[in-house]
Amino acid sequence: MKQVSKLLLGCVFIAALAVGGVFLYQAQHRLDSPAEKPAEPAASLQVAYIGDDFSLPAVDNELPVYDKYTEAMRKEKGLPLSYGGKREYFYGERVAYLTFDDGPNRENTSRILDILSREGIHGTFFLTGQNVERYPDVVKRIYQSGNAIGMHSYSHDYKKIYASPQAYMQEMAQTEELIYQAIGVRPIISRAPGGTSGHFTKEYWQALSDRGYIEVGWNALTGDADGTGKTAAAEVENLKSQLQARPYLHSHLIILMHDASGHEATVQALPEIIRLLRSQGYTFRVVTTAVPQPW
Ligand SMILES: [Zn+2]
Repeated sequence: MKQVSKLLLGCVFIAALAVGGVFLYQAQHRLDSPAEKPAEPAASLQVAYIGDDFSLPAVDNELPVYDKYTEAMRKEKGLPLSYGGKREYFYGERVAYLTFDDGPNRENTSRILDILSREGIHGTFFLTGQNVERYPDVVKRIYQSGNAIGMHSYSHDYKKIYASPQAYMQEMAQTEELIYQAIGVRPIISRAPGGTSGHFTKEYWQALSDRGYIEVGWNALTGDADGTGKTAAAEVENLKSQLQARPYLHSHLIILMHDASGHEATVQALPEIIRLLRSQGYTFRVVTTAVPQPW
């Protein structure tokens, strides 16, 4: 009889352990699961927001610009969805915008962020949704280090995104949502994969404008994606010759580069590119809502 009750007690004990284990596992799992809450901006983070009424920051604002709300949240709150298409531009004296497309990427983006931080300057990153999904922690680092973020479609697949303005905007919405999940704000600057030329009809421009997005092109490039800038030295040379050929770009030099995998040469070239621009008197800004059209 005594042994039976000991056995029963043992069973109860084991069962209790098992139940406890399950609770412990669940608690642990909740802690380990990716942050459902958006990242809180660091106290020192300097960011500009568009107004609830979608008013854009002052033209001489030097900070990355974000919206506190997603489009869905704006709809729910009955807030305006666009600034209305008219905006003023900031023209500076020898201002360069370093822009990086197609990331984030674990190695290249992280190394570029290290270089920018060492140099005490900031750049702008146009992200694809699929890479935001892969490296949300790198997205957070871009944001929290004061660099600017823009959208660059979800898939980067021309067949899909340029099938129709609706398809294009669907990927914008998807990417905006992913970025919002990672950093708790959404960008309103955007760059069309491959550029708008030959891709956008007036319906695409209209759709972007209706949704308050600001399209950002470029007027210089290192050739890191077109075969002319295969090495770091070639990239620097490409930029040098464009600076000579197009001195009228001084007020807003928007340089296209890439930080996706395969663009290690761009990482290598970056310190020299920064030196080159500084030697010609350039300072660096992030792309804001007042960045001029590239032409
Ligand atoms: Zn691209």
